Amino acid sequence: MNDYSISTNCIQSGYEPKNGEPRVLPIYQSTTYKYDTSDQVGKLFDLEAEGFFYSRLSNPTVDAVERKIATLEGGVGALCTSTGQAATTFAILNICGAGDHVVASIAIYGGSTNLLGVTFKKLGIDVTFVDPDAPIEELQKAVQENTKCIFTETISNPTLVVCDIEKMAKLAHQNGIPLIIDNTFATPINCRPFEYGADIVIHSTSKYMDGHAIALGGVIVDSGNFDWNSDKFPGLSTPDESYHGMIYARDCGKAAYITKARVQLMRDMGATPAPLNAFLLNVGLETLHLRVERHCENALAVAKWLESNDKVSWVNYPGLESNKYHELAKKYLPKGNCGVVSFGVKGGREVAANLMEKLKLAAIVVHVADARTSVLHPASTTHRQLTDEQLVQSGVEPELIRMSVGIEDIVDIIKDLEQAFAQI
Ligand SMILES: *Cc1c(COP(=O)(O)O)cnc(C)c1O
Repeated sequence: MNDYSISTNCIQSGYEPKNGEPRVLPIYQSTTYKYDTSDQVGKLFDLEAEGFFYSRLSNPTVDAVERKIATLEGGVGALCTSTGQAATTFAILNICGAGDHVVASIAIYGGSTNLLGVTFKKLGIDVTFVDPDAPIEELQKAVQENTKCIFTETISNPTLVVCDIEKMAKLAHQNGIPLIIDNTFATPINCRPFEYGADIVIHSTSKYMDGHAIALGGVIVDSGNFDWNSDKFPGLSTPDESYHGMIYARDCGKAAYITKARVQLMRDMGATPAPLNAFLLNVGLETLHLRVERHCENALAVAKWLESNDKVSWVNYPGLESNKYHELAKKYLPKGNCGVVSFGVKGGREVAANLMEKLKLAAIVVHVADARTSVLHPASTTHRQLTDEQLVQSGVEPELIRMSVGIEDIVDIIKDLEQAFAQI
C-alpha cells in the first residue's frame, strides 16, 4: 500500500518496471513458466516462494491488475475472474456449501438473483431475499444458524437502490459473518465499502472499470479484516487436505480468504481471465477516475432535464433531491452516484419503445456503463416474456427506460433527447 491518492493509483499502481523493463504492463501470453529445478517449483506449490507456475492460478499481467484493484479498494489482495458472474460465484462458494444459507438484498443484479435463487439452490445453498431498506431488527429475522454471509450491492443495477452499508455490516458482524458487497456501479472512485465495514468486495469489471465495453471480467477483493477463526467457516479454520493440510486462517494471515479462493476454487473450477483481457482492463483503469466523474456529472444533468420534462412520468436517480435514497447517496456516494438513470415515459410500453427508436446518439444495447450513451427498454427486451402486471411486480414498469449516460458532450446527449421527445 502507498500514500498516493486514488487517481494516481488508477494510473501507477500494480506494475512497477525495473531498470530497462517495458514501461507499459506487458501481455504475458503464456500458460506456463520455466524453472531451473523442481525444488523451486515445489516451493511455489507450498506458497513458500512467490512466483508463477500455471496461468490458471496466476499470470504476471493478471497479477498486476489484481494488485492495482486491491489498492484502489484498500484491500489486502484480489482475484480476477473471467466474468462478474464468476466473481459472485467464487466469492460465495468460498465460504458456503450444501446446507448453508445466504441473506441477499432483493435489489441486486438480475444475474445474481438467478445465480442465488436458481443455481445455488440446486447446489444445496439456500437464500432469503430481503428488503434492504428494512430496519436491522427486521433483517435480523432472516438470519439463520447456517447463514454464512450477507450479500448486497452499493448502488443496485438497475433499480439504483443505495445500500446502507454500515447497517448491513452491523447485521453481518452481530451474527459473526461477513458482508459481501457488489461495488460495480459505484466503483472505488465513488465508494470504498471497506471504509464502512464491508469485508469482501466484488465487481463486474465489464462495466465502468473496463469502461469501453471491450472485455468481460470480474474481481474479488479481500479487506483482510474478517476473522475466519470460527466454527462457522471450517473451510478456512480447519486443514484443507487437498492443499497439504493448509489452514488458511492460520497460515495465510490477513489474506486467508483470497488465498483460499485462488488456490482452491480457481484451481478446481477455472474461470481464469485471459492475459489480453487483463491488459485491456488495466488500460481502462488508468482513466477510471476521469471517466466516472464525467459519467456522474452527465447523468445528473440528464436526470434533472428529464425531471423537468412533462412527457416523463418519473425519474429515478439518487443524485436528485426528490429521490428516496438521496440522503444515503450523500453519505456513501458524496462524489457522485453512477452513470445510469432510469425513467418512465407517459403513455406506457409503446411510447417508451417508440422514443428509444427516435434516439440517434444513444444506441439500443443490453450493456451498461461504458463510454457511449445507451438505452434499454426492459419491457420489450430483457423482460419481454412478462405481462405488464408481472413487470410492475418485479419493479420494472412497462414504461421504464434505462439510460446509461456516457462521457460524450452533455450538450449532444440532451439535444438527442430533445429531438426524440419532440417526435412522440
Ligand atoms: C453486469 C453485472 C454483473 C455480472 O457481470 P458479468 O461481467 O456480466 O458477468 C454482476 N453485478 C452487477 C452489478 C452487474 O452490473
